[in-house]
Amino acid sequence: MMTYLFSLEIIYLIASVTYIVGLKMLGHPETARKGNLIAAFGMTLAILGTIFLFKGEVQPKVYYLIAGAILIGTLFGWGIAKKVDMTKMPELVSLFNGMGGASAALIGLIEFSHYTGDTISVFTIIAGMIIGSISFSGSMIAWAKLNGTMNKPVRLPSYNILNNVVLVGILGFGTYITLSGAESQLYLYLLFLAALLYGILFVIPIGGADMPVVISLLNSFTGLAAAFAGFLYGNMVMLTGGILVGSAGTILTFAMCDAMNRPLSSVIFGAFGEGSAGAGAAKKSTQGNLKKTTPSDAAILMNYANKVIIVPGYGLAVAQAQHIIHELELLLEEKGVEVKYAIHPVAGRMPGHMNVLLAETNVDYDKLIEMEDINSDFQNTDAVLVVGANDVVNPAAHNDPQSPIYGMPILDVENAKTIIINKRSMNPGYAGIENELFFNQKTSMLFGDAKDVLTKLVQELKTM
Ligand code: NDP
Repeated sequence: MMTYLFSLEIIYLIASVTYIVGLKMLGHPETARKGNLIAAFGMTLAILGTIFLFKGEVQPKVYYLIAGAILIGTLFGWGIAKKVDMTKMPELVSLFNGMGGASAALIGLIEFSHYTGDTISVFTIIAGMIIGSISFSGSMIAWAKLNGTMNKPVRLPSYNILNNVVLVGILGFGTYITLSGAESQLYLYLLFLAALLYGILFVIPIGGADMPVVISLLNSFTGLAAAFAGFLYGNMVMLTGGILVGSAGTILTFAMCDAMNRPLSSVIFGAFGEGSAGAGAAKKSTQGNLKKTTPSDAAILMNYANKVIIVPGYGLAVAQAQHIIHELELLLEEKGVEVKYAIHPVAGRMPGHMNVLLAETNVDYDKLIEMEDINSDFQNTDAVLVVGANDVVNPAAHNDPQSPIYGMPILDVENAKTIIINKRSMNPGYAGIENELFFNQKTSMLFGDAKDVLTKLVQELKTM
């Protein structure tokens, strides 16, 4: 009975259940932290179980290697995750995701020679290695783009055709190796290099507003690659984990495509990023008068409003102004003003960025309203306060077919009676384009760092 209780299968079952429960709990800001810990506990259990309950011949030096690898990985992961700013989180996710892809690719490279002749296993190895390699090199490029090292999309001549030719080549060569029973390790290395190249070619043309989609797509690739490795080893916990990451990433990719108004087919077949200017792209010149306002005037306006909608964006996260904005919200409510937050699905730099940021300050979740539910409210709103958001409120998405963000659903802020926009300058946002909303007659610009400006707004409101 005791042997059964402590068998690897039972440990894997428990770990798989913790992944599912953890993933479910990640769906709500209130339970997300606990969900993450539960899944991490399951993962630790699965790792320890695999090391100590494995029933096979293992040389002692292997244990030292495993312990060394775990130690280095833990120190590295813990160190950077502890230090990272919230605004740099997407880069970290890309880096970690790339490491997952690399691990899956390495499994393929190492195991190939052990399974030659077994077509199903070779197929599993080749598929996992191709997907893992694409995910690794693609994630590294995404990481470089997000941290600004590569701040422009690179368009090679006829890149769509080139990418698809390389992809077809990889699939054809992979099929040949699988079906021919070829034992050449050289073939495998060539396939590995081609897959790395494809990952780079796939991500370099993409920029600007399309990055969230590519990140979640690469995330689903890594899950799939891990699932193939789990299938190869008959390791249920690896299979479950891989399938969960793969399917969660795919669902997120679809949700992001919806948010960006891009069909998934254009993502897969390389038209992705077409027309997308990306960071630092040519700016469209916008003409008109710019109206400036002061914290005192903005406070008066909000004090006498019946309804205020706050639109948080990337700048709120940069300024770490989430606590002060919550204070502003509570103060306005004390004065009888109805306050809501309008959450755009790609505001900030990672999916759910604004929810995570505001959850940190205990904002009532019922006040965080998703774009499709709040857009019809703007017309009945006295004042909108846009804090560090730019692309997600840019009307060019509706009005300018030449714009790289044309077609992306946005928060229809321009329908409100008055608009106050807080940012530090006239610099563009992530997509690198100007915003005609700043020149709208209903708009007043409240320049300054979000935290400073909101602190002044709160001080003014307290005196009223
Ligand atoms: P944007 O990047 O469009 O704009 C942010 C604005 O914040 C800038 O114009 C900047 O102007 C301002 N800002 C920066 N620092 C401060 C500060 N300290 N105080 C006040 N304002 C500040 O952000 P949005 O949230 O509107 O849009 C997100 C963009 O990022 C979209 O294009 C999206 O596609 C992209 N993206 C989203 C990801 C996601 O998953 N959410 C992932 C990757 C990209 P200024 O410098 O003048 O202050």
